Amino acid sequence: MAKLILNQVAKDFGTGRAAVSGFSLDVREGGFLALLGPSGCGKTTVLRMIAGFETPSDGSIHLGERLLADASQSLPPERRNMAMVFQSYALWPHMSVADNVGYPLKVRGISGEAYRTRVREALSTVRLVDYAERRPADLSGGQRQRVALARCLVTSPDVVLLDEPLANLDRHLKQEMEETFREFHQRSGATMIYVTHDQSEAMALATDIAVMSEGRLLQVAPPAEIYARPEGRTVGGLIGRGAIVTLPVMGHERDLEWHELEDALHAANTDGADILVRPEDVVIGVEGAAATVESALYEGERYAVKLMLGNGQVLRAFSRVAVVPGEAVRVIIRAGWRL
Ligand code: ATP
Repeated sequence: MAKLILNQVAKDFGTGRAAVSGFSLDVREGGFLALLGPSGCGKTTVLRMIAGFETPSDGSIHLGERLLADASQSLPPERRNMAMVFQSYALWPHMSVADNVGYPLKVRGISGEAYRTRVREALSTVRLVDYAERRPADLSGGQRQRVALARCLVTSPDVVLLDEPLANLDRHLKQEMEETFREFHQRSGATMIYVTHDQSEAMALATDIAVMSEGRLLQVAPPAEIYARPEGRTVGGLIGRGAIVTLPVMGHERDLEWHELEDALHAANTDGADILVRPEDVVIGVEGAAATVESALYEGERYAVKLMLGNGQVLRAFSRVAVVPGEAVRVIIRAGWRL
């Protein structure tokens, strides 16, 4: 296996605005990278260029030492040793589960014992050995997705590309499949690139998250790092919950504590730095800055509360006890992150 490298990749469909521009990224070998961003930001285009279904207008894509594509040449998809899993499972309805999984091997002329062993191994990775002889129509949505995963695993690809594979599933099944994907990644050891616009899915699955907006890569980092230290308002607003407040804090320190924030909250002047405040860092109690409850949404284990500060800015908080809209409270912001 080898590292996948995208170097200043661009794609222009001739619509007047580039779908992707100046996109550079090294995907670590055996890593699980989530490409995250709002609809239309270029995620699928990046994935399709990696797969070989689109040719970059500029820049280059390498797998280790091997050039996969640049503006003048492009290795066809079937010679890249990659596999792609789509949102629609694209299974053959008239074939059994085992035949669906074995199909890519047949295309490559593999038969006999080698064929049977590899199909069995792939089915065992997704825990579907007992379903080998069934038809796709006799399976649940999650099981069909697992067949699609087994089919892409059977050729031992260097890179597995997944385009919003969980978008059609209900919440319960989604959680179960996230578990399957994690396990699949660990067992197969393949490098995986996963396109999603769902940040909680990206956080739950990936070893690294690449955030895109308007065709550009804004930041790439492990989930905990991108949550704690997002760069800029777009990434800060896209990853996790929280609120961005503008406060006149002193100095250049990025990790801010209550004593620095308290002074800024009491200042008359409201221009200053953009500060991301996570709900878990807002403590509702009897001391601190004055705020009013705007709304409180019961989430089972707690309330998700929207607060309005005296200066008119919004904060988000969690509360174990019930609060009601209009209620006057006091808040302490334990920590903030200067964007
Ligand atoms: P979504 O999450 O909605 O699938 P995305 O982030 O995957 O969105 P892309 O599908 O990569 O976004 O599209 C990026 C931009 O490129 C969009 O503005 C889209 O309209 C444009 N685009 C994509 N494919 C083509 C094409 N074949 N021809 C022209 N424009 C295209």
